[in-house]
Amino acid sequence: MDKCFSRSGEGKDSASTEAVGACPVLIFTRAGRSYLRSEVVGMKLESYAFRIFSPVMYPEKLRDIHSEEASIFASTVDFSGDGKDAWIFDIDETLLSNLPYYIDHGFGVEVFDHSEFDKWVERGVAPAIAPSLKLYQRVIDLGYRVFLLTGRKESHRLVTVENLINAGFQNWDKLILRAPDEQHKLATLYKSEKRDEMVKGGYRIRGNSGDQWSDLLGSSMSQRSFKLPNPMYYIP
Ligand SMILES: [Mg+2]
Repeated sequence: MDKCFSRSGEGKDSASTEAVGACPVLIFTRAGRSYLRSEVVGMKLESYAFRIFSPVMYPEKLRDIHSEEASIFASTVDFSGDGKDAWIFDIDETLLSNLPYYIDHGFGVEVFDHSEFDKWVERGVAPAIAPSLKLYQRVIDLGYRVFLLTGRKESHRLVTVENLINAGFQNWDKLILRAPDEQHKLATLYKSEKRDEMVKGGYRIRGNSGDQWSDLLGSSMSQRSFKLPNPMYYIP
């Protein structure tokens, strides 16, 4: 990892080009935005990002695997029949794809602009991630209680509901968004607290699907967690 960047700060010579080009996948899967903001390598990374994460090459296969494996697990759970077996889905980059936004914003290379992203969210046109829609429907059909737990703001509830329905998601039990006084909590804490409330309510969290580790780790973790790929950004 460090080797990839060992010469990148020395200038735009051929060696730095090779160094950056040698491990772009590691850059996007393991590094934080601090690397992506590098003035020296930023433009090169952006060009690599476009090649790697264009709609054609985006890792749909990994999502297929996630959907299939999660579906198999969901089918193996012994239901008690009391309606307390639950499955949690994150929304962004789990059920809905913001790839159209990131195509226009450097695939995560640009510094995140909350205002611009909010405008995109408020259009309500994020497409479904097809393998996730398949899993979602399977989980519903099996009889799980479905909780949608998102870092989106409460003020985006209506547009989020409309976007989800238009993308094919229906019949969830509860949609949980961040209240105004929760805006500054780390995602791991915010989502843990919401899972804690579910467990206190008697729910057994059987599965949890999310694209960030902060969707999955913390307290009241699910019996089985399913991590989707997200090479574009990281949320602690
Ligand atoms: Mg997400």
